Amino acid sequence: MSGDAGGAGAAAASGMAAPRPVIGLEIHCQMTSLKSKLFCPCRADYRGMGPNENVCPVCMGMPGTLPRLNAEAVRKGTMIAMALGCAIPERISFFRKNYFYPDLPKNFQITQLDMYGDTSIGGRGSILVDGGAVGIRRVQLEEDPGRMIYEGASARNHISLVDYNRAGTPLVEIVTEPDFEGPRQLRLFLQMLSDMVENLGVCNPALEGAMRADANVSLEGGNRVEIKNISSFHDLEKAVVFEIARQEAQHSRGLEVAQETRHWDAARKITIPSRLKEGEEEYRYLLEADIPWVRIDAETVESLKSRMPESVSEKRERFVSQYMIPPQVADVLSSDKLYSDLFDAARTDKNARELANIITTDLMGLVMAAATTEPAPDSDAAGGDAQKKRDDPASDVISVDGLRELADAVASGQMARNSAKQALHEMTKTGKSFSEVSSEMDLGLVSDESELLGVVRSVISEEPKAAEQASSNPNTINYLVGKVMQKTRGKADPQVTLELLKRCLLGD
Ligand SMILES: [Zn+2]
Repeated sequence: MSGDAGGAGAAAASGMAAPRPVIGLEIHCQMTSLKSKLFCPCRADYRGMGPNENVCPVCMGMPGTLPRLNAEAVRKGTMIAMALGCAIPERISFFRKNYFYPDLPKNFQITQLDMYGDTSIGGRGSILVDGGAVGIRRVQLEEDPGRMIYEGASARNHISLVDYNRAGTPLVEIVTEPDFEGPRQLRLFLQMLSDMVENLGVCNPALEGAMRADANVSLEGGNRVEIKNISSFHDLEKAVVFEIARQEAQHSRGLEVAQETRHWDAARKITIPSRLKEGEEEYRYLLEADIPWVRIDAETVESLKSRMPESVSEKRERFVSQYMIPPQVADVLSSDKLYSDLFDAARTDKNARELANIITTDLMGLVMAAATTEPAPDSDAAGGDAQKKRDDPASDVISVDGLRELADAVASGQMARNSAKQALHEMTKTGKSFSEVSSEMDLGLVSDESELLGVVRSVISEEPKAAEQASSNPNTINYLVGKVMQKTRGKADPQVTLELLKRCLLGD
């Protein structure tokens, strides 16, 4: 390309330089915290039920039934739109998206569309991700389809089963502008969004299938490829990286990228073309006349604003400025609602720093280990127990009071950090209280001089070289403190130990 007489500009025009990738997302987020489906009284939480137990004439699309809009879904959807910096419309409407596929018995999905002005739950928002703005085109409410289950391995002996428990459960779809600069920003956005919906109390992203995403990928000026229904964010990033490379390879060979829908083959780690589906124009969108337009008045907007919880970034800022928690620790703590709630419940002005430390360095690891090693008892119900565990994993293993007492003991110098780790382990394993564990395990800090003096003397006699150098090299004193700690398994009060050593070796 450098040999071209026209230089870089001509090279780009002749199609040799790879144009910039253009990436946009559509994220489907289940409103798992709601009680009922979007248009009927069936449960929104369909998990762990037998096939087709969570259905009624409305979500089964029986003739003569009428949908009735879930008001809490409108409120929660509006809160998501607000958190994404969207404009809230004065009124919202619903549309029928027609398609013939057995996962929705009505043969249409009730969704939103901005056909007559801005009538989706939110739109034209923007949030800052990794220093760059990502535009939010639209936030819309819609119903989730049922689940298709395919049995039989060969094409000839193929059985399709359908389970409508999920059909009609409330979803929020978030459509971004194609603003992503690369996979890193994509990953950070998804993490931020997942933290946000969890913090708003709308969705538990840890539940299987609670957040799914489609990605639109193209090279500037080229055709757009849609990668459908990727259920893990990790896979989404890999799929986008693969797809950009594939399109760039096509481009460098002078081939046009076909406009198509592809899906991610997680086993082979490639995207492959999907069978043809309807294009937008084939959905024959139609205003859903069975659901009246809903007015979102200023009073509602104000009351929802007052219901908005502290955002993840505000929380992080509070942890850093109010409790002097190191920024990296505050990042970890603020982005997880369960742990940050636990922190806020157990903290005092004095123990906050130690508490944050105990939660992020010890407790999170213990909970994670318990979740992966513990066999779920009598749970053949498709991971139902494991899911319940993840709903509130920390409070299952330790009480707020226990955690507070533990952090208090470390903060006041009654217990060494090392011993606190042991105590936490014992408390989570046995369910015993802090006072039981600390007296049984004898974990209190030893600060009694007469008790420590014996240990200090034996360390000095075992380390004659270091003892000799102590007067000329202060570092060796720290080394000897470490030795005393080792002998007492971390229980010696470091301050008292230091003073005793100085007294014995330097005559201070
Ligand atoms: Zn129903």
